[in-house]
Amino acid sequence: MVRRAQCQCGGFTATAATEPGVVMACHCTWCQRRSGVPVTINAYFEKDDVRLEGDYKVFERPAPEGRKLYNYFCPTCGTTLAWRADLRPDVLAVAAGCFTDKNFPPRNRCGEFGENERTARPRKRTRKERPIASGANNKQEDDYEHETS
Ligand SMILES: [Zn+2]
Ligand SMILES: [Zn+2]
Repeated sequence: MVRRAQCQCGGFTATAATEPGVVMACHCTWCQRRSGVPVTINAYFEKDDVRLEGDYKVFERPAPEGRKLYNYFCPTCGTTLAWRADLRPDVLAVAAGCFTDKNFPPRNRCGEFGENERTARPRKRTRKERPIASGANNKQEDDYEHETS
């Protein structure tokens, strides 16, 4: 299914040819500042599956170990619609609240995301809930981290 997301004014859109690999909530400081809300819901796609169209600018911010994270925002209305990180260059995130389909991502009875959709699933633990000592076998979980520091 093709999924479309747009900024407030409609001048900047993201069109995804596939379902996201993962949808998750994040309350890191960077996501809070990006969005202005305490908790964000973010959909992660293979970068090549998403087309960004219209007018946008890129805000780069620093990430750990010299990496960067790139926020794609509308210069007219200011909405940050999408972003990607050097940590996982093949992934593009889209702000889930910007999708035109208001039933996406699906919610379960408790108002949480996932379970009832093939590919949309919540992350089990947040970064802050993870054990302090994380070994190499946590690589999978780190793949979508938001580069907080
Ligand atoms: Zn706009
Ligand atoms: Zn975050």
